[in-house]
Amino acid sequence: MPAHFQHPWRSDFPILNIEREGAPLIYLDNAATTQKPQVVIDAISHHYATNNANVHRGVYSLSQLSTEAFEQTREKVRCFINARSITEIVFTKGATESINLVASSFGEYMFHQGDEIILTIMEHHANIIPWQQIAEKKGCIIKVVPISENGTLDLDTYKSYFNSKTKFVSMVWVSNAIGVENPIKECIEIAHNNNVPILIDASQSIQHLHINVQDLDCDFLVFSGHKIYGPSGTGVLYGKERLLEVMPPYQTGGDMIKKVTFEKTTFADLPSKFEAGTPNIEGCIGLGASIDYINGIGIKDIVLHEQGLMKTAIEAIQSYDFLQILGYNGSNVSALSFTMKGVHPHDIASILDKKGICIRAGHHCAHPLMQFYKVSSTSRISFALYTTHDEIIQCIDELASIYALFS
Ligand code: PLP
Repeated sequence: MPAHFQHPWRSDFPILNIEREGAPLIYLDNAATTQKPQVVIDAISHHYATNNANVHRGVYSLSQLSTEAFEQTREKVRCFINARSITEIVFTKGATESINLVASSFGEYMFHQGDEIILTIMEHHANIIPWQQIAEKKGCIIKVVPISENGTLDLDTYKSYFNSKTKFVSMVWVSNAIGVENPIKECIEIAHNNNVPILIDASQSIQHLHINVQDLDCDFLVFSGHKIYGPSGTGVLYGKERLLEVMPPYQTGGDMIKKVTFEKTTFADLPSKFEAGTPNIEGCIGLGASIDYINGIGIKDIVLHEQGLMKTAIEAIQSYDFLQILGYNGSNVSALSFTMKGVHPHDIASILDKKGICIRAGHHCAHPLMQFYKVSSTSRISFALYTTHDEIIQCIDELASIYALFS
């Protein structure tokens, strides 16, 4: 591998050592999913090779070992986001399921005809459709906070939306489509000043920013394990205990009950009440290993490294007038969306693929945001802790060649 692609953390990720199209893999689609370090891969295979049994059920020691390893991750997550208690950490299969859980359970319990829910125009579909579904069922209204051209949330409109009918806010912290960071603490304060609970979609923040849910004071926060160097099919819902306590179960079945008779079922305490059925045991153990891995590096160093990458990318993209960045306001976190004059994003991504460079082209599961920018798709580059400055420069140099080819 050329020296300029080397980075202290890179060698921890086996996939980054392979070549694509005769060149080292340049993976710039980290907002979609991150690559996995060897320690995460090892944690999963170690579990299968030595500890595998179902959790929370067996009295035999193998099941207890498996349960211990699984539950250790809950404590690691609690510590990582500084939740007050492990009762506030619910395992799900991803951010999507976490949001669906809150929308249907909290919505079922709290929403009534004419109530209002506040979202923003930059939400991922996963933070739109669950709210649409419950709004339709309960006869609620969804209000959408707009942004300015550079991606900045319109806080005046946000504030003006609150009234006695407002029942919930659900908002992304960092946009997956354009990388803009919302002033999340301020948005939480505004919601609370109006006595409205707020869910934070931290899918694109958990791997790039320091998160402290007690300091943020958010009511719910969600993320997916696969975006934080952990396995797919794992996710977390953080919720304040007093809210989770009163919410009805989302799914029912084994492992979430105290007692079942054909006349009546009583439900288990938190967090089991929201974890029906056999969970993704090895996935959660892998997620624990990914959190250990990040802690081993230190989120502060990751933030610094990624801020440097953003500076490199912005300077390089802005040096070409045929590239137009969508939604850049200086707050962007590890993702940038752009268009190229006269060239379709899918063509760009396909040509880059032939050079071993992976970037995302499409609507990024954010149709309303694409409609706002009057485009059907964009090209997006997104970074991770193993991304190097040279990879970004090489990718952007290739963009110049593509433009030359098409013009
Ligand atoms: N929210 C945001 C901001 C995302 O970027 C994503 C995934 O890209 C999701 C929600 C949904 O995550 P998942 O598909 O892992 O459930």
